[in-house]
Amino acid sequence: MESAKIMNFNEKKKISLYSVGVNLVLSIIKIIGGTISGSAALTADGVHSLSDLAASLSVYAGIIISNKKSKLFPHGLYKVENLVALVSAFAIFFAGYEIAKDVLFGEAEPMKNLLVAVTVIGLTVLITYLYSRWEKTKAIELNSPSLLADAEHIKTDFYTAIVVLVGVLGQYFGYPIIEKLAVVIVIYFIFHSGFEILKEAIKVLLDASLDYDSIEKVKKIVEQNSEVNKIIQITGRNAGSYKFVQLDLDIKTDSLKEAHAIAHQIEDDIKKSMPFVEKVVIHFQ
Ligand SMILES: [Zn+2]
Repeated sequence: MESAKIMNFNEKKKISLYSVGVNLVLSIIKIIGGTISGSAALTADGVHSLSDLAASLSVYAGIIISNKKSKLFPHGLYKVENLVALVSAFAIFFAGYEIAKDVLFGEAEPMKNLLVAVTVIGLTVLITYLYSRWEKTKAIELNSPSLLADAEHIKTDFYTAIVVLVGVLGQYFGYPIIEKLAVVIVIYFIFHSGFEILKEAIKVLLDASLDYDSIEKVKKIVEQNSEVNKIIQITGRNAGSYKFVQLDLDIKTDSLKEAHAIAHQIEDDIKKSMPFVEKVVIHFQ
């Protein structure tokens, strides 16, 4: 179990560093491409990628901090990951606002080099599409809210790139209104994804109950133990990538020693089939 946790941590650290690299590359090619081509939308999107770079650096920091053990925080710093997801939700809202401001109310200028703009956008579409899909699969595998939030954000960057492409073509062919209409659609995507991340983060930070599926899974495992008479209550909460479970059970024995052994058995069974369960607390009646 301990080695699985270390692997989970190393994997998350590695992926969050990849995100820093992806955003660094995107910022550089968009700002250079936007300047050479004379596309204000592409340059604005490059500035947005710079704010993503800052956000991905904070995800990286969040993953490292959440793994630290500390006397001041005896229950662990797991929720730092959810806190980082919360901050990245606001980074998404801010990016949406920036795009709206730049493209809807910015000055339209003629296009100098369409090929450069289209090439940079093509690269952006490819990178963001493939990377967000890969990162989402990994985030679900590792049960990591901050990586999932990052993957969702990079997916919105994919939509943004498509809108910038439509805007660039509109600008090139002399229809700046197309650019403005497309931007409205993207802003909807951006705010929607920001809101979803915000909702999840707040639920976990306020200790909302463990999801129904997890509780049902725990129930099935406990019911298989022949020493258990009755399950009185199952409660639980999330923190970061981990789940904490609390059980109130009526068991067959009166012996403290046997009860202790049963508790260990149940905890092992749960942790074996639910790798993200960090702790099981059992009360006997
Ligand atoms: Zn972004």
